[in-house]
Amino acid sequence: MDLHTVTAYDIAYSRADLALGPGDALVGGGTWLFSEPQPHLHRLVDLSGLGWDPITLGPDTVDISATCTIERLSWLSDRHDWASAPLFRQCAEALAASWKIWKRATVGGNICLSFPAGSMISLAVALEAEAVIWTPDGDERHLPVADFVTGVASNLLVAGEVLRSIRIPVEALHCRTAFRKIALSPLGRSGSVVIGRCDGNASFTLSVTAATTRPHVLRFARFPTARALSSALDELVPAEDFHTDAHGAADWRRAVTAVLAEEVRAELSAGEASEKEGRP
Ligand SMILES: Cc1cc2nc3c(=O)[nH]c(=O)nc-3n(C[C@H](O)[C@H](O)[C@H](O)COP(=O)(O)OP(=O)(O)OC[C@H]3O[C@@H](n4cnc5c(N)ncnc54)[C@H](O)[C@@H]3O)c2cc1C
Repeated sequence: MDLHTVTAYDIAYSRADLALGPGDALVGGGTWLFSEPQPHLHRLVDLSGLGWDPITLGPDTVDISATCTIERLSWLSDRHDWASAPLFRQCAEALAASWKIWKRATVGGNICLSFPAGSMISLAVALEAEAVIWTPDGDERHLPVADFVTGVASNLLVAGEVLRSIRIPVEALHCRTAFRKIALSPLGRSGSVVIGRCDGNASFTLSVTAATTRPHVLRFARFPTARALSSALDELVPAEDFHTDAHGAADWRRAVTAVLAEEVRAELSAGEASEKEGRP
């Protein structure tokens, strides 16, 4: 839709172009910005001119630029050297947005919107990614994406800051993962996304997103029993953190999250047992 209060559209080519004032907003892919009225906005600053490499592979970390499209990110699932590779496409497909929107929608736009159904948040949290944030004074700060998102459409980004990238430790990419998503309708917006990660030393990490107002990460030194997992969920993910909207009621989200968490635990622990026995 047209944003008729917006009177300037600038393309940023360098960091200096990212100075933002009141009424200014960044544009990633614009798939959300242009989808509803933004009467408080007067100027848009488009990040596409910065020419950031979408994906930078380092020895210990993989940086995904904020401007990386969801389509480009999903191609990482074609890698055969990362045990967690399937997660990239699984998380892209967890969006209600289709492959057409993936061509424009960016990883950064999804995370900065900070909606519970932001599946780039689910991905980043499951892989222990940190947010690399450019601050207006020319510096940068880092924090776990799990802490970055603080509630429905709220996060720790302050005025003038730009999400530059998310940084995933390579170690996490070598972990086996299991993914579950549920929605009220087959192509609906996620009601709960639960991802498990099994580290080389048999520790187990479970992340809960979409069902709750902010991400929750549960860590276990070894695989919990079904009962221990269920108790940990009850204890560590407070009932009041499950939220209600058109895509699901809090009590439904809480109940299905427990079911998905047990499925994830069972899948990964079965895989762990086969590995120990040397079975394929
Ligand atoms: C049909 C449809 C289905 C959708 N389904 C989902 C869904 O299931 N889950 C979901 O979460 N969203 C969904 N969306 C919303 C949206 O398309 C996605 O969240 C998308 O990933 C947003 O990315 P974008 O680059 O287009 O963001 P934009 O629209 O460009 O920006 C979104 C917000 O983030 C800010 N921003 C963008 N980049 C940065 C940055 N680098 N640093 C700081 N701030 C930044 C912008 O100023 C704006 O406030 C859907 C949209 C459509 C049209």
